[in-house]
This record gives sequence, structure tokens and C-alpha cells, in this order.
Amino acid sequence: MPGHLPDATGFALTATPAGSAAEQPGTACFATAGPTTAVTLRAGDWLWTGFLVSPAGSTPLPGVATDGPTTVLLAGELYNQDELVRAVGDPKLADAGDAWLLLACLRRYGPHAFRLVNGRFAALAADGGVLVAATDHCGGVPLYLAVGAASVSVATEAKALPTMADGPHGQAVTGLRPLRGTGAVHQVPAGGGVVVEAAAGRPRTRLLRTWTPPLHRRHLPEEEALREVREALDRAVRSRLRTGPAPTAVLSGGIDSSAVAALTASACPGLRTVSMGTDLRDEFREARLVADHLARAHPGPAATGGHTEIRIDTADLLAELPWTIWASECTDPDVVEYLLPLAALYRRLPADRPLRILTGYGADIPLGGMHRDADRLAALDDAVAHDMETFDGLNEMSPVLSGAAGHWTTHPYWDRDLLERLLTLEAGLKRRHGRDKWVLREAVADLLPAETVRRPKLGVHEGSGTTSSFTLLLREHGVPDERIGAAKGAVVRRLYDRLVAGGAHPDEIDLGQETKAALHRPDAPGIEGGTRGT
Ligand code: AMP
Ligand code: MG
Repeated sequence: MPGHLPDATGFALTATPAGSAAEQPGTACFATAGPTTAVTLRAGDWLWTGFLVSPAGSTPLPGVATDGPTTVLLAGELYNQDELVRAVGDPKLADAGDAWLLLACLRRYGPHAFRLVNGRFAALAADGGVLVAATDHCGGVPLYLAVGAASVSVATEAKALPTMADGPHGQAVTGLRPLRGTGAVHQVPAGGGVVVEAAAGRPRTRLLRTWTPPLHRRHLPEEEALREVREALDRAVRSRLRTGPAPTAVLSGGIDSSAVAALTASACPGLRTVSMGTDLRDEFREARLVADHLARAHPGPAATGGHTEIRIDTADLLAELPWTIWASECTDPDVVEYLLPLAALYRRLPADRPLRILTGYGADIPLGGMHRDADRLAALDDAVAHDMETFDGLNEMSPVLSGAAGHWTTHPYWDRDLLERLLTLEAGLKRRHGRDKWVLREAVADLLPAETVRRPKLGVHEGSGTTSSFTLLLREHGVPDERIGAAKGAVVRRLYDRLVAGGAHPDEIDLGQETKAALHRPDAPGIEGGTRGT
């Protein structure tokens, strides 16, 4: 499979100072599917032992680049290669692969190289005695870390960290939040890296900030704003395409995913689109309208590759709850509700070959699309700023959601450059002429049916009936309506504890039993009294 997916999509490694005794761990538990490679590697002054996951498993050490004292492991991919090649001044690096390009950046800039990179990745780098574990600007590939007395463990999934299996030991890491249920495992913040130096054999850590959501806003004339958004979205889409098999777009028929599908279809032939619905609800007509429009707009050799509808029974959809939490390692019930229908969809795509999937996920956050009631511009901008302050740690963008089914997703709206441009537009360009996400709708209006451009927002959890089915499950367990929200939280946290901290596999989980257990726990606030005896 010549490079249409990242070389590596996950890792779990322990770094110990070279020369100390290090044992190769027996196994690591990843939700990300794909061949696992055992690694024992000298990296700078460190020894790395553990595992990495790669979609193809073709090269001996996928995602690894080494040059003298510098070694890089990259899980994921970069999107501003042109810029980076110019920055390091070596045109040969254009085709060398993302890990080699990142290595050259690290040699030139040190850990600050991560401030230059636009990508979807988690990385571990060693440069002599210095170790850096970093994730991209939005924590797009989540990264976890535990610091022991003489070693540091890092992994793209918390459950894959050796420390998770061995119990909670390890040191606090300044500036990092410990993970629920553990004192020792920390998540590397979005737009952050942890720099480790071994001082007299003991790892010393400091946090390196590489990105932070901008708070300033820009007023642009309408025409200029539309041109900027169109160009930046087009670049974000194109930088996510690779040679090889044609990509897939998950298409709801809303403006966000329709714009991504339209620009992808313009950039490469063969785009396949896929929509999911349930017995309760679907957006099939709306998605089909877009797919047909794109098929007509791209005849002959530029033709699109077809559109598929996948319907999932509500009962089967809810059965994906454990898989969703196992993959995303998310404890937020609202986010889990958004992710559930997508996780279910990814697991029903053809599994015979890994797909590159583009989504419209996340456009609402910088554009305030979910805040339909915030009609004052101040309230809209407050909501945007608040969502950007609180997204970290939710793992909404995690590639493991599709990785559990063997596929790779990428979200153009959270491209670092596009995200910054969308965020910094003043609220009056986001809500304008009585319409939400005005600047996006108008910027792509020429590519889509007029009905699609005007269509009001429907969240994936609403369009698929997920919210209603989760609510129904809890009503069946006797939860009164005013406690449904709290009960959803209790169930999600219970599943997280079993699957992430507890090491259970989602197929071992009996959802009915876990729901009952979650609702009857004495520490489930406001639920206990209402449901006892049901
Ligand atoms: P939304 O909450 O509607 O913004 O959904 C986020 C993204 O998930 C969309 O932009 C689509 O890429 C994808 N998506 C949402 N609903 C569906 C669906 N019913 N079928 C396929 N993909 C969907
Ligand atoms: Mg939608």
C-alpha cells in the first residue's frame, strides 16, 4: 500500500537511559487495528522498548527516522510539508516521508520544531539526552505519558501504557492533568509537548507549549473573507489527499461535510461518499442530493466513485457504546454521543482494505454553528472562545475511532491554518444575513445544490437518532427525564473505567448490566434515589 495512509498510527514505548536494564514488555493493548511491531531501539542516549502500530506494516520500523543522535517516531501525518521543506532548505526531503522531514526540523530548531508543524500526529523524539513527546495543535492524535523513577512511558492510547496494566505508580508531571482513575498517567495537552531530560538518572520534565487558540478577531470585507475561507479550506482538503486508492468522505448532506466532499471531488477522481442512518432517523435524502450533484458535476475520467447508504438498527447502534469509549478514551457523555454513530459507521465500512476518510467534523466549533440561539454577536463569540478553551482532553478528533476499524480519518476543518482563519473571523461574518455559518455557506455556494447551502444544522447525534436511543435505554432503566443527562454521564464513566483503566475488551461488556451498575452506584449523583428497585 504505497503510502496512502500514515506509516504508523500508534505507539506505546518506554524510554530508559541507554545502558540501564530495560525489558521488552510482552504485549500492548491498542484499539487501533493493524500489524503491531515490537521495538527495541537505541534513540539518542535512550533505549526505546515497546510497540508501534502501522496500517501496512511494510517497513521494518514504520514511522521511525534516525540520523546520528536524533531519532523520531511519528504516528500520523503532516500537512505543511512544502513550508517545512523550505524551512530546512533541503528539497530532497520533499519525498523522504514525514518522519524524515520532522527529523530535519528537529535538528534545525530543537523541540521548538513542533511550533512549525501543521499536522495530525503524536510524536516521540530523542536528541542526545533530550526526549520530547508531543502532539499536534489540537491533540488530534491523543498522547499519554507516565514518568517512573528512571523511565518515561508514552503511548497514543492510555490503555496501551504499561503503567496502566501495572497499576498506578509514577510521578506527578508539572502542568499536566492526571487521567481519571490514575495518579500517574497524564495526557499531553493539545498544542503541547513534554520535554524530558535525565538528570543524574532521574527524568526531569517540563511542558513546552506549541500552539494556543487565538483570541483576537479580524474584520474582513465580505468578498475577502469568502475568498480566504474558500482557499484555506481547499488547501486543507488537498493537503489531506495522497496518491493511491481514492478517498472516502463521510457525508451527512450538511454544509460542512458537503463542502469537504465537493472540494475533494474537484481535487481527485473516484471520491466515494457514505452516509449512515438508523431506523429512527436518517439524512439519506439530503446526502444523496449532494452525491448526485457531485456525480453530475464530475463526468468522465474525473467521475466520483459512488455513494453508499448504511442503515443501523438502534439496538445495534447502542451496542457500539463500549467500542466508542474504548477507542476514543472519552469520558464526556455529549462527545460520546457525537462519536457513537461515526464509530458505528466506520466499523461497517468494507474492512478488506484500509480507507483514507475525510470528514466535516469540527466546523461548528470555530464558526459557532451549534449555538443556534446565540443571536447576539457577543454571545456567539463567547461561545466560540469557550469551546476553544474546553476542547482539550475530550479526544473528539481521535483517529482511533476509525483506527479501531482499520481506517484513517482526517478532519480538514481542524487543519491548523484553516482553524486559525475561521476562529479569528469576527462573529458578524459567522452569523450574517440571518444565517449561521454564513461565511462557509457562501464560500462554497457555487459547488453545491442551493438547498444544501441553505440547510439548517443537524448534529450527527440528532440526524442519526443517537440521542433519542441513548435516552430510551435510560428510560427503560427507570431514569426520570430530569436525570437523563446525569445518568448518561454515569454510564459513560462506568464504561470508561472498565475499558480504559480496567483493561476490558468491548466485546466482554454487557451494556445492560453495566448501565444498571452505573445507575445504582452510591456516588452517581442524583440518580441513585430515582432508580433504585427498577
Ligand atoms: P455534524 O455533527 O453533523 O457536524 O457531524 C460531523 C461530521 O460527521 C459531518 O461533517 C460528517 O462528515 C459526519 N457525519 C455526520 N452525520 C453523518 C451521517 N449521517 N452519515 C455520514 N457521516 C455523517
Ligand atoms: Mg450534520
